[in-house]
Amino acid sequence: MNKTTILVVEDDRPIRNLIGTTLKTHDYKYLTAENGTEAILEASSHNPDIILLDLGLPDMEGVEVIRKVRTWSNMPIIVISARSEDTDKIEALDAGADDYITKPFSVEELLARIRVTQRRLAITQAGETQETSVFINGELKIDYTAGCTYLKNKELHLTPIEYKLLCLLSRNVGKVLTHTYITQQIWGSCSENDIASLRVFMATLRKKLQPDKSETQYIQTHIGIGYRMLRIE
Ligand code: CA
Repeated sequence: MNKTTILVVEDDRPIRNLIGTTLKTHDYKYLTAENGTEAILEASSHNPDIILLDLGLPDMEGVEVIRKVRTWSNMPIIVISARSEDTDKIEALDAGADDYITKPFSVEELLARIRVTQRRLAITQAGETQETSVFINGELKIDYTAGCTYLKNKELHLTPIEYKLLCLLSRNVGKVLTHTYITQQIWGSCSENDIASLRVFMATLRKKLQPDKSETQYIQTHIGIGYRMLRIE
């Protein structure tokens, strides 16, 4: 059986044990590391499928671990942060983390985040086919080649910026993208003005994708952090 292997990086032993037990119960393989140095060593020697990374480590900042790992690998990293400060999460996401969970978190929440990441991983591993062809998510369809977007088989009329935003989010489906990352990709800069514009464009794009609250939500807002396209089952 091909079990998903998860590296748990956490210096707080009770939390580390809780996560370990949870993963084991749900049929995941796991490894543990108590500090950043161990984390980098374990990541490089065992090549886990996913890293769960506490940001506050005794020997280095968790964000340093992300930067190191990103020099050789794109393995998904879910950041676990006790701090409610958004700046830490933003720094971690910009350094290359895929998602974040804020302590205290529930076991269900943790498992849900892992499943989201696994699905994203499966899509990535299925090949880069979506780079050139068609993206389908629920009732949303994007034909990248033709530059057309359809919702429930009807063409959506998007402005060029809205379309660029949608493409960026869809190519990173399941992943939280920070305001800075998005504005850099779209406008090549990340001033206050860019972020304000982004909010406006995202509001209109979201309205086109979800004209009514009862309709499927495709884009999730992370207040003060950024946006994510949800993978629809
Ligand atoms: Ca800690």
